[in-house]
Amino acid sequence: MSTTPVTIIKGDGIGPDIVDAALRVLEAVGAQLNYEFVDAGQAALDAGQKGVLPRETLDSIERNRLVLKGPITTPSGQGFSSVNVTLRKHFGLYANVRPTLSMPGSRSRYSGLDIITVRENQGGMYSGEGQMVSPDGSKAQALSVVTREQCERIIRFAYELARARGRRKVTVAHKANIMKTTSGLFLETARRISGEYEDIEHDEIIVDACAMKLVMYPETFDVIVTTNLFGDILSDLCAGLIGGLGLAPGANIGTDCAMFEAVHGSAPDIAGKNIANPTSVTLAAALMLEHLNELDKAERIRTAIRSAVADHDRVTPDLGGDGSTAAFTEAVLERL
Ligand code: NAD
Repeated sequence: MSTTPVTIIKGDGIGPDIVDAALRVLEAVGAQLNYEFVDAGQAALDAGQKGVLPRETLDSIERNRLVLKGPITTPSGQGFSSVNVTLRKHFGLYANVRPTLSMPGSRSRYSGLDIITVRENQGGMYSGEGQMVSPDGSKAQALSVVTREQCERIIRFAYELARARGRRKVTVAHKANIMKTTSGLFLETARRISGEYEDIEHDEIIVDACAMKLVMYPETFDVIVTTNLFGDILSDLCAGLIGGLGLAPGANIGTDCAMFEAVHGSAPDIAGKNIANPTSVTLAAALMLEHLNELDKAERIRTAIRSAVADHDRVTPDLGGDGSTAAFTEAVLERL
């Protein structure tokens, strides 16, 4: 049987432990994958590389066009660009899809939530343009660059995703009342494109009100589409609604490349303690299987995780348990 090559970046902090857990789960469901392990971030520097994104890492992704990635620490104050932002730009990963689905047994105030945040992944405040500090250090600036093409592509992506998954509504989160140019272009484009999708309800909301409404009435949201920075913040908020960052996977999708990862970062506060929840990155691995059309295997992973969490079986401290990363992984493996 043929195997699909995948670039694996274990990442920094809790990354290696949780990615190892995800790989054990992938093996248990019989995923036919062929791994190529490469480094990025602090791990690359520790391995003696000169930069945080070595050539061999880019070459591997260039070849395989499929990545499962642990969180990456970008060392601050040393002049390195963010590895995540660079990878998303370099490989044209324009759509960041972050699903948050309630999990019975998690420590959430809500149940029955199923919200997908679709975040524009390349432009806006994260475009990295025009960042400078004045020579005397008294003034800093960053440019937010949004193009019509970026807006069209991400909004169409969100509506197509909504249609493909039988969702009822797309909410456009924006700040066009203040950021009249960048957010204005996003909103204007969304209004135009939404007209092509009469089967899906179009809703729009100013991002600050969106944050409030997500906390008070999260059940009224379905698919949210928004620009880069707002999407980053709102998707963490959504993770909080379902029980925390330990349960939130993400997919970075481009036209011919895809990278799957947890929403969370390298969690330096718990790194090395064997208590990180491996669920987010394992659910990201399930999203990768879905991307490869291995729907049954993806569903088996989700079902096993949901069962272990519902039974409170060896769950990690973020879910109110005292299980370790390894012990919770065993609980999931036993259910596969
Ligand atoms: P973080 O997401 O790493 O951690 C925030 C909080 O959530 C911490 O208290 C942490 O312990 C907890 N947490 C995160 N993942 C968890 C898990 N799997 N299980 C249990 N608890 C978990 O955010 P941060 O501390 O702001 O960032 C740390 C580093 O990660 C920074 O260098 C940042 O740049 C990087 N980062 C990387 C990515 C990525 O690689 N995609 C995303 C976000 C942040």
